[in-house]
Amino acid sequence: MGRVFTITLEGNFYSCKHCQTPFALADDIVSKSFHCRYGKAYLFDNVVNVTVGEKENRMMITGLHTVVDIFCVTCGSIVGWKYETAYDKSQKYKEGKFILERYKVMGPDGSLYLVAQEDAEE
Ligand SMILES: [Zn+2]
Repeated sequence: MGRVFTITLEGNFYSCKHCQTPFALADDIVSKSFHCRYGKAYLFDNVVNVTVGEKENRMMITGLHTVVDIFCVTCGSIVGWKYETAYDKSQKYKEGKFILERYKVMGPDGSLYLVAQEDAEE
């Protein structure tokens, strides 16, 4: 396997827990109040070093969305998804934004989020 070119991020960022490839700046977090099957998920304005999968329609708690899964460009593990289209007017702000599943990524301080961990904010 050849070396994959990855973009470097400066500052506090979230990265792949398997290979430490940087994905997104803490400053680009739009919301931390999302949930996925395995706990918390964060909504980001911008995510780098990912490849996208096939478009698919998914029914979520907030309605129907067209999404694509996103994968780490270095190790290929799935790390979240991107919203292509939101069909509910109130959800339009999510279009073009990215979800990183918290347990899939390492935090700015190197912290890992455990699936079973309960968050004090909730
Ligand atoms: Zn990776």
